[in-house]
Amino acid sequence: MTQPPFFSPDFKAAPYWWDLTPRPSLQPQPLPEKTDVLVIGSGYTGLHCALQTALAGRSTTVIDAEDAGWGCSTRNGGQISGEIKPEYDQLRDRYGNDKALALITEARYALDWLGEFVKDQGLDCDYRQCGRFLAAHNPRQFDRLVAQAQHQVPGLEQDLRIVDKRDQASEIDSEYYHGGLVIERHCGLDPAKYHQGLLQRVLENSAQVISHCSALEVERVSDGFEVKTSRGTIRTRELVVATNGYTGTVSPWQRRRIIPIGSYMLATEPMSQERADRLMPARRVFSDTRKIVVYFRRSPDGRRLLFGGRVSVFESDPVRSLPALRQEMLRIFPQLEDVRISHTWMGFVGYSFDNLPHLGVQDGIHYAMGYCGSGICLASYFGNRLGLQLLGKAEGHSAFNQPRFQSRPLYRGKPWFLASAVRYYQLLDRLG
Ligand SMILES: Cc1cc2nc3c(=O)[nH]c(=O)nc-3n(C[C@H](O)[C@H](O)[C@H](O)COP(=O)(O)OP(=O)(O)OC[C@H]3O[C@@H](n4cnc5c(N)ncnc54)[C@H](O)[C@@H]3O)c2cc1C
Repeated sequence: MTQPPFFSPDFKAAPYWWDLTPRPSLQPQPLPEKTDVLVIGSGYTGLHCALQTALAGRSTTVIDAEDAGWGCSTRNGGQISGEIKPEYDQLRDRYGNDKALALITEARYALDWLGEFVKDQGLDCDYRQCGRFLAAHNPRQFDRLVAQAQHQVPGLEQDLRIVDKRDQASEIDSEYYHGGLVIERHCGLDPAKYHQGLLQRVLENSAQVISHCSALEVERVSDGFEVKTSRGTIRTRELVVATNGYTGTVSPWQRRRIIPIGSYMLATEPMSQERADRLMPARRVFSDTRKIVVYFRRSPDGRRLLFGGRVSVFESDPVRSLPALRQEMLRIFPQLEDVRISHTWMGFVGYSFDNLPHLGVQDGIHYAMGYCGSGICLASYFGNRLGLQLLGKAEGHSAFNQPRFQSRPLYRGKPWFLASAVRYYQLLDRLG
């Protein structure tokens, strides 16, 4: 098949991050017969949970159906916000003022917590407090951002700065947007380098991480669980499900509560430093005010544009949907017409019906998931809290244990309503 002219000669249908951090080849090892803690899923949630239980001296085994970190944790956009999707007013109407403040404050704390973790552990992952430019896709949304910055909820104030359209060249070389909001606290990192550093810490603390080992069936036994896997059966006292957007039939209760939604990314080939500097001079992370959001940033070396979003109504092969994703990029940056694409990939983000992350225990199985696209710090933080809760430690307490983890009638884990929802949100975005 002839390749489209915008493919670079070294084009890959794989995450850009994997070039710099190839998938770890872990020493093949037999599945132990018994373990104190079995964690299914080796992304940020699973590894942070495992780190806590291993540090507390519990024998800990992490299994993953694919390579370690194969899921979203090495495929994401590398933008860190510590924000949850619902706004204060929505949460106040649902749960009252105190709970709303507690949820938002804890999620924001997760951002600080992650920064401290990366620093304390000396993880080399291009972590930077670069700030976010939240771009308004029409004048009405710009007015909304201005109101948001001028009337911050007491107790939730943060450093926000409005940028008018006429001044936005200092942030972005695009006529597409109508000004925006700089959120100084937000950060960026290289997600695969971060995952690799975390994996190293988990292994150094004597947890076993076994890749290419799928959990197939869970059975409750007198002193815990017996889990059938593709590599044999293992007995465990405590079981943790950390599968988020990849949650399958092995944990049907969680599957009925997670909506997997594909998010698609591309990386451009390297540009000259001058050209990349002109595009996004302040080197922030970017997203916009659309419901079907796009997000982008420069690669940590500053030379490429990494651009993500959802362009297809139905899930698609990322190579097949790449022309549409590139077209979306060119609507914002028409000057990149001559820049070729070197990578494309996708992953399944785990959404929940109330747009909140959830953690807790159901039928004796511990879980944390549903980060709704903000999982770098939330998955890390809730993985950590989950580990502490499993150990019975008071520091593990979280406001997010409380809101009920909802499902919907007839929902079994396949989002049959997704295409209609995407079309509806696309229409709202067009109407402004
Ligand atoms: C394209 C994309 C861009 C994103 N951008 C951002 C961003 O910029 N900022 C941000 O904060 N978040 C972002 N996210 C979301 C973020 O990456 C995730 O929320 C986070 O990585 C979730 O981590 P996790 O450990 O819970 O799950 P994952 O990292 O997805 O790990 C789940 C693992 O479970 C394994 N698994 C599933 N079933 C089984 C089984 N039966 N047996 C064994 N193993 C199993 C899978 O193989 C997988 O490796 C993005 C996601 C995608 C896809």
